[in-house]
Amino acid sequence: MATTFEQSTDTIIQLDNCQKYFPVTKGLIFQRSIGQVKAVDGISLQIREGQTYGLVGESGCGKTTTAKMVLQVETPTGGLIRFNGKNIADFDAADRKLYRSSVQAVFQDPWSSLNPRLKVGSIILEPLLANQPMGKHEARENLERLLRDVGLHNFHADYYPHEFSGGQRQRIAIARALSLQPKVIVLDEPVSALDVSIRAQIMNLLKELQNQYGVSYLLIAHNLATVRYMSHYVGVMYLGKMVEEAPTRELFTNPMHPYTKALISASLPSHPDIQREDLVLSGEVPSPLDPPSGCSFHTRCPFVLDRCPEEEPVLRELAPGHKVSCHLF
Ligand code: SF4
Repeated sequence: MATTFEQSTDTIIQLDNCQKYFPVTKGLIFQRSIGQVKAVDGISLQIREGQTYGLVGESGCGKTTTAKMVLQVETPTGGLIRFNGKNIADFDAADRKLYRSSVQAVFQDPWSSLNPRLKVGSIILEPLLANQPMGKHEARENLERLLRDVGLHNFHADYYPHEFSGGQRQRIAIARALSLQPKVIVLDEPVSALDVSIRAQIMNLLKELQNQYGVSYLLIAHNLATVRYMSHYVGVMYLGKMVEEAPTRELFTNPMHPYTKALISASLPSHPDIQREDLVLSGEVPSPLDPPSGCSFHTRCPFVLDRCPEEEPVLRELAPGHKVSCHLF
């Protein structure tokens, strides 16, 4: 069993003004560029040791593309990502190998990440054995520890994924992600496909494992209750940009950006002791191919000012650790 990890605030992964623009082309044979989709447009954030950074926003806001850049599935078209202070674009082969084992992922649908033809024992140990050759006895010890840590039994190692419930399959995916004792796990909607009754169990398990292993999480979720429960810091994204970022308690008790207020109003009941201004979010998210000028939220904002369609607001720190991009402040 891994020992309980002292929480610290060292930054493991830092995104610095990261961009991911996708070219949009027209024509089948003679393709010409007609623009670009700014899926992520200048995001900065820090994932700290032993902590969870939650990223929220409606679908298409760029949170999944941000996760893909952290997982090196997508390469940033601007800005940089640092791992332990080093720009990942400067990695040599050894750095890349270390990064791949240090940054793992758990996805929404464990079906897609668990090979249905392999027994659970092989699925969990596959990344570990690929990185670290070891004897049968040591492999078995690791497997039993991982199964125990995620709340499964030794005999489960000989079953196939289809013999498990959704919650148990997610436990298998978590055990596999933990097998290399990673520094960071990207959790992409880890509980949204599960029955409501199972969600709390998996969230509690993830929190226990964070304490036990000292692992950091980048949590991608659209459910604000999940993000509030799991995260130490929260970033709110809208059309590829960060519009507000704060420590979790601060964000949920004192949201400032109209978009954050609307998201919270739409998904969380207000606390009787907290005075809250409820906002209703109307309209659809504009196309990222043709985002609104100035503040990209101005087409849906109930507080829009004359300058909002003209002038893009800058993300500024208004209280310790609390950053907002809005002309109201
Ligand atoms: Fe609303 Fe203007 Fe603030 Fe944008 S900058 S959120 S449009 S008030």
